[in-house]
Amino acid sequence: MKRERLDKVLANMGLGTRKEVKVLVKQGLVVVDDVVATDPGMHVIAEEQNIVVDGEPFNFKRWVYVLMNKPPGVVSATEDNVHETVVDLLPYEWAIKVHPVGRLDIDTEGLLLLTNDGQLSHSLLSPKKKVDKEYFARIDGRVTERHVEEFAKGVELEDFTTLPAKLEILSSGETSEIRVTIMEGKFHQVKRMFAAFDLHVTYLQRIRMGPLHLDPALKPGEYRELTDEELDMLQ
Ligand code: URA
Repeated sequence: MKRERLDKVLANMGLGTRKEVKVLVKQGLVVVDDVVATDPGMHVIAEEQNIVVDGEPFNFKRWVYVLMNKPPGVVSATEDNVHETVVDLLPYEWAIKVHPVGRLDIDTEGLLLLTNDGQLSHSLLSPKKKVDKEYFARIDGRVTERHVEEFAKGVELEDFTTLPAKLEILSSGETSEIRVTIMEGKFHQVKRMFAAFDLHVTYLQRIRMGPLHLDPALKPGEYRELTDEELDMLQ
């Protein structure tokens, strides 16, 4: 466990800037293990020590793992000059820490993991790990067995040929509904794979990433922390 300056820990908890939290300490509002802290630079082990701020105990969590059902219209980024971001949907103490693991297009919905665990996010995104991602989609046009076969061979796009992808037809007609599982996560990949056959994706929702499933209890825009079982499956 890490020893860190008290002011840094308090700032990471979302209690304000370093300057602001120093004032809290100077005002005698921060108590560490039943002793009023006087030095904002004192070293603490946040996971082990009992930190109380203005009478409120703090449950310190170094790592945050958030499973979100991303709604349409928000961007998968921590900052954007025009649109609301997925991070803006979170409470401040999480928002200042986490980043989305990979990107969904602004109009794509569904499973998005957000964390401050850089090692986990790196490993989930690493092409070597081949973490599969499953999507539900509505397609303008008829999806047929020929597309299933072509997807299974891998689809040639302008910049690369995809690994074999599993396409399942749920319904086929003037519009079709499908499930597709891809092994990479390139820019607009699912849309581009259908566009290669002159088919247009009108709705796209990620329903799984590796062992993590979209939680049907989460409405678009809602989120929750990963359960211990989910976290174990990812690590
Ligand atoms: N493929 C896409 O085309 N868009 C996404 O958001 C995700 C996968």
